[in-house]
Amino acid sequence: MKSSPKSKRAIRRKHIHRLIKKRKDYWSGGARTPRALANTPTPCSCQMCCNVRKSSWAKGKERLTLQERRQENIKDLVSAALEEINQ
Ligand SMILES: [Zn+2]
Repeated sequence: MKSSPKSKRAIRRKHIHRLIKKRKDYWSGGARTPRALANTPTPCSCQMCCNVRKSSWAKGKERLTLQERRQENIKDLVSAALEEINQ
């Protein structure tokens, strides 16, 4: 069995090496150095790669992330079901 790292520094190093190993072939391995990819996996901030919250293309509810949109759908479903029960 592998021993678990004890210090915060050891944990941070472990995760940096994990990400370097995982992301070494991102962008065909040419866009950035592996260590830079460990910190920032997306090499640009164009409209297709950027965070949807920061996109100028998206307006209103489109600016929500996928998780937030799912959460909104769940809330709507629950409130509809509660209304049905109360009637
Ligand atoms: Zn891009």
